[in-house]
Amino acid sequence: MAKTCTNCRLMVDEWNKTCGACGLHLVLEPDEVHQARYLRGPALGALLFTQGWTFGARLYLLAILSCIPVVGIPVLLVGLIFGRRLSWKYGGWQTWEAFQARMRFLDYLGAAWILMLFGAYFFFRT
Ligand SMILES: [Zn+2]
Repeated sequence: MAKTCTNCRLMVDEWNKTCGACGLHLVLEPDEVHQARYLRGPALGALLFTQGWTFGARLYLLAILSCIPVVGIPVLLVGLIFGRRLSWKYGGWQTWEAFQARMRFLDYLGAAWILMLFGAYFFFRT
């Protein structure tokens, strides 16, 4: 999954445009440009349903941490901003397609979760 810098051979992450060691501007293939953009995008599902998202994204340590009340907020922010990158790097995904499909599903799941919470709120309020 990871690739190496063509100049200094250091391992670089695929969403990086420049090498962290030598500053070489890395040329990305069209597929990689698309992937890099996707990975930098926010994980909305992590904002809406942090526990479910982190678990589904295979970030189990974050999932456990998100259950602790005070720690849950920073975990939410980390998941929202870096969630896709972390999941892609540490989730052990076989293919990009499988990863993307799961990310899509988790965003829908988060939306469904919030709708359900609102629904329950208005249902039980009356
Ligand atoms: Zn380099």
